[in-house]
Amino acid sequence: MDINTTKKLNNGVEIPYLGFGTLRSKDNEETVNAVRWAIDAGYRHIDTAAGYGNEKSVGQGIRASGINRKKMFVTTKLKPDEDMLPGAQMKAFEKSLDLLQLDYIDLYLIHWPVAGKTLQAWEGMEAIYKSGRARAIGVFNFTERHFVELFRNAKIKPAVNQIELHPHLSQQSLVRYCETEGIACEAWSPLGGDGGKLLDDPALNKIAGKYGKSIAQVILRWNLQNGIITIPKSIHQTRIVDNANLYDFELLADEMKTINALDQDSRRFGRDPNTLNF
Ligand code: NDP
Repeated sequence: MDINTTKKLNNGVEIPYLGFGTLRSKDNEETVNAVRWAIDAGYRHIDTAAGYGNEKSVGQGIRASGINRKKMFVTTKLKPDEDMLPGAQMKAFEKSLDLLQLDYIDLYLIHWPVAGKTLQAWEGMEAIYKSGRARAIGVFNFTERHFVELFRNAKIKPAVNQIELHPHLSQQSLVRYCETEGIACEAWSPLGGDGGKLLDDPALNKIAGKYGKSIAQVILRWNLQNGIITIPKSIHQTRIVDNANLYDFELLADEMKTINALDQDSRRFGRDPNTLNF
């Protein structure tokens, strides 16, 4: 396994396991630099969203890096607002392309299920996929019951489910369900998000000490060894580099078990999708 290792999605598209998150990164030079540093450090997968308001800077960062577009994997997301209304998805998608200054997106996600709107919005997502300008489409924060409902209507199965996932919320049963359905899981807030309490966990600290690694590196390595795509965010160059430095150590089976056992199930940093209906 190395930084270029990819996972094959259910339509054959390859997604790099390690991606770069950009939530809370503003539409400014700082984000342009962060994206460029990430690409310089070897990340080939960037995660943004229309709702983050930073697509323009993310696109600028990709271009500033000088990387060949075809070597990059770019995810963006449909806003959970009026863009979920019938017929609005293509226009929203084209706006994202325009801001990013790209002519295709690798992965386009529905950003949060929205009551009464998600099933129809998925039809719009399918039309975008069929247009050939999104190489894969997927969802965000879907639980098993959201999928059951979606499958009644969907012609194309989501390729990805982006979910809150970290050692205090390892989502083992949802991950197993998604695996059975051929849907890849991506971890958002893998480090516990902004100001989360994960990075001082004593059990993780002990494992990190053994390898001379940081807790962040241990968590991200745990994601990779569990077959989970992970998208840590940072605005600082040293952290961006460190968070990609994951390939010179391997967690032992009993260390993986120890981390899996830190699961507190309901310990969420973000909103609970169980409270959301379609
Ligand atoms: P992460 O778990 O990636 O943690 C990011 C936070 O940890 C930031 O405050 C960052 O600070 C800090 N950090 C990063 N690396 C280190 C390190 N090595 N040591 C110490 N602190 C560190 O949280 P996110 O919530 O950003 O999730 C990752 C990505 O997932 C998002 O950026 C986004 O792309 C996606 N996501 C989507 C959501 C949505 O759309 N609703 C919800 C949440 C996430 P600093 O930047 O100052 O370095």
